[in-house]
Amino acid sequence: AVDGGERGIHAFLHVSAEEALRTAAEVDDLRAAGGAAAEALHPLAGVPIAVKDLIVTEGQPTTAGSKMLEGWMSPYDATVVKKLREAKLPILGKTNLDEFAMGSSTEHSAYGVTRNPWDTTRIPGGSGGGSAAAVAAFEAPLALGTDTGGSIRQPGAVTGTVGTKPTYGSVSRYGAIAMASSLDQIGPVARTTEDAALLHELIAGHDPKDSTSLPGEVPAFGEAARTADVAGMRIGVIKQLTGEGYQPGVLDRFHEALEALRAAGAEIVEVDCPSFDYALGAYYLIMPSEASSNLAKFDGVRYGTRVLPEEGPLTIERVMGSTRAAGFGDEVKRRIILGTYALSAGYYDAYYGSAQKVRTLIQQDFDAAFEKADVLISPTSPTVAFPLGENLDDPLAMYLNDVATIPANLAGVPGISVPGGLSEGLPVGIQFLAPIREDARVYRAGAALE
Ligand code: GLN
Repeated sequence: AVDGGERGIHAFLHVSAEEALRTAAEVDDLRAAGGAAAEALHPLAGVPIAVKDLIVTEGQPTTAGSKMLEGWMSPYDATVVKKLREAKLPILGKTNLDEFAMGSSTEHSAYGVTRNPWDTTRIPGGSGGGSAAAVAAFEAPLALGTDTGGSIRQPGAVTGTVGTKPTYGSVSRYGAIAMASSLDQIGPVARTTEDAALLHELIAGHDPKDSTSLPGEVPAFGEAARTADVAGMRIGVIKQLTGEGYQPGVLDRFHEALEALRAAGAEIVEVDCPSFDYALGAYYLIMPSEASSNLAKFDGVRYGTRVLPEEGPLTIERVMGSTRAAGFGDEVKRRIILGTYALSAGYYDAYYGSAQKVRTLIQQDFDAAFEKADVLISPTSPTVAFPLGENLDDPLAMYLNDVATIPANLAGVPGISVPGGLSEGLPVGIQFLAPIREDARVYRAGAALE
């Protein structure tokens, strides 16, 4: 009894059946012909993939979930999309998200909500709820997401899928519409750790078009996932992310995961990260500050929507004002106002400056924790999927969903969410975090829980 396509899930904003079928047929033909061309096919060639609609695609619309970009077509492909096309993965289309990736429930999309396939009265997480729901509902075996504060991992957790936020800089951000540039990362969404690892390998690598792109070779993540070996691995339980505020059912599954890892030979230790208590506060200053600057380019002149004022002179300020008033939703406006305020003269030191200091303390907490442990572990999200509408009128309650995922973005470290069983019939996610450039460890540890 729900509206919309895909049996009511509404994971997709745009479906590109023709293009996908063309690519699939091309792979079939190459395989049938055999020989060197068939041999040279990428292992993921022919495996369909859905792409979060924050990532630009030539020939398919990109909206960022916003009226601001309604009908807009990118003249170029994001680097990750270029890699998908080169490896011949059929691109099924573009998936729903909170507007400009701001949210934890996909309810802030200008194009309607996405529903959780496990229970269509509940949220699929956010901002990448469309990608996670598409994979969970068996509409796509693979998807791409973006994670600025948890938007790959938290939707993964509440839909029972696997999602990874790679090390900052290890996957090119070229062509990902920027939310908060120092936190944004593109990453894989899949049904198994090995699938996620193979997609991660494909999209990673240095890109001169991204000024924060890391140099160096891409490690064999698929191999790490197949190893699934935690014998002798020191796994650090983050004290600050396992107590108050977490649903009892989530904590039960978390403690079972610890038992399973211990049984598989891991050494479970406790780590103390006192500055994590301030991560949410720091994030919700740094993220809006960067977003307020990144979103200044949507001025009604360069991209997408232009709304003229109903009366009076057509000055640039007035056209910009009426376009932004009509084009942005409430949550985006809230964050632009927050960010502009935090960056304004007189408040900069008190807000943005303090938040940056907290960011450094969080990085130091990670450094200390990784001296005692090879990977860290926590629940991915404090709750299972909540009912649609439950947190919609309470931004602070919505922000609390990100408490466990945000520290990784502030420090640039990689993280994964893997399924950790059900609580009252709904998926619980377990998060692993590793030091910068040690993404292979989260696959090894995550795979051990499968
Ligand atoms: N839920 C977080 C936010 O609303 C994370 C968003 C993201 O990772 N894109 O900011």
